[in-house]
Amino acid sequence: MKPKFYITTPIYYTNWVPHIWHAYSSLIADVIARYKRIDWFQVKFTTWVDENSQKALLKAQELWMDIMEYLDMMASKHLAVWDWLDISYTDYIRTTEPRHHKFVQSVIKKTYENWFIRKWNYEWLYCIWCESFKKPEELNADWLCPDHLTKPEVIKEENYFFELSKFQKTLESFYEKNPDFTIPNNRFNEMKTFLKEWLEDFSISRNKKLFWIPFPLDNEQVTYVWYDALFNYLTVCQDWDEDFWPADLHIVWKEIARFHVIYWPAMLEAAWYEKPKNILVTWFITVDSQKISKSIWNVIDPVEFSQKYSRDLMLLYLLTSFPIWQDWDFSEEQAVLMYNAKLANNLWNLLNRFLVLSLKIWWKIWWIINDEIRNEIDSISNKYMETMDEYNPNWALSSIFEFCDKLNKFIDNEKPWNLDSETEKDRIEEILYNLWEWLRIVWIFLYPFFTAKMSEMLTRLWMEEYPEELADWKMKELLSKKEIFTIKEKWEPLYPRIQ
Ligand SMILES: [Zn+2]
Repeated sequence: MKPKFYITTPIYYTNWVPHIWHAYSSLIADVIARYKRIDWFQVKFTTWVDENSQKALLKAQELWMDIMEYLDMMASKHLAVWDWLDISYTDYIRTTEPRHHKFVQSVIKKTYENWFIRKWNYEWLYCIWCESFKKPEELNADWLCPDHLTKPEVIKEENYFFELSKFQKTLESFYEKNPDFTIPNNRFNEMKTFLKEWLEDFSISRNKKLFWIPFPLDNEQVTYVWYDALFNYLTVCQDWDEDFWPADLHIVWKEIARFHVIYWPAMLEAAWYEKPKNILVTWFITVDSQKISKSIWNVIDPVEFSQKYSRDLMLLYLLTSFPIWQDWDFSEEQAVLMYNAKLANNLWNLLNRFLVLSLKIWWKIWWIINDEIRNEIDSISNKYMETMDEYNPNWALSSIFEFCDKLNKFIDNEKPWNLDSETEKDRIEEILYNLWEWLRIVWIFLYPFFTAKMSEMLTRLWMEEYPEELADWKMKELLSKKEIFTIKEKWEPLYPRIQ
């Protein structure tokens, strides 16, 4: 029996097609999902759209479209982006689906029976773009939402509230018992500060007649907000998929972090569900130092960008060029420079040097590996798996490229081309074998990142069974396999330089 692993992308709103920021989160989720698959896990990987929102309604009105027609259009646009980027999701869910409506209603009933929902007459400011309530002191000098520069709505109704305030102690002790619940640590610390100052009950219904999920306790109301969205994570874990819950990893971004780190565990506890194991908060991407915002027009289209260059270039740039603990700036020029340095020069040149040498000397290379090199491989393998298991694919990727630098230096030092092919044939073969073996490991490790190209490399090396075995094999077994390399021909560059 394979162990189970459940990973989710952030909640995507449907008033916008995915931009580079969304692509970034989905690509990280994809890399982790692919890694877990080669590490012998049965992976459930969900991505989804949140359709029960005022933003979507406004957008549909703007376009003179029927709301359902608009939502269908946006849902298929989202899917097209993920398919284009080769995101290996296993379930795609929309919050308008009947299976979701049914499930949310049962959860609300259960939460009410457990005494965590109350009715309240209130008046408050609400930013529909943030999907959250605003206190006057959170607005800017012009009384606008500082993130969206829009005027918040005044809401004055009698609604149902989730009693988050009852969960202060529960959350404190949960965080204490799970010090790595939120990654990275600085984001978790921000959330803990919120927990100290800010824990108010929040409204989960609206007095409106809309297509949203009917509120099960009151015919006059619809479900809104967070209950209609977050329980999506569980809707997809019913029936035969039940044992995927609790989720191993939710990937979210800073803007929705507090709803996942504070609200979500409390909402689950209130209905007697287990809490997710980890939440990874990705950071903001800025373009020319301006935060990408759904209402600001500085958005980069991930499909256009990867069509112009390639998916691999985009993924490489997004995952290696920023520190995990802070926001960073997107630059097209930097992306191209990085691709040329790492994929075209470092990786492809390295391979090409081995090829030329191997073709000169021998086309089949047998198992001759020395202990020192075996140890080196073990140490890089451990480092790689450790960082991937800590959900830090960017560090894993950087460490592989560091390793490639080392290989380039090794070949410069050994200078096998200076050795005599008659009298020193054994030494040459040993050097070459070790180089190929190293490269084989590099390919396995890069497979979750650049699956298509790495499969191509392995196939060209007459190891065409690898891609299939990787998809359904213990990576660890493959790593310790004794391979015979067959090198017969020169290859076209897999990663040509971009001028
Ligand atoms: Zn806002």
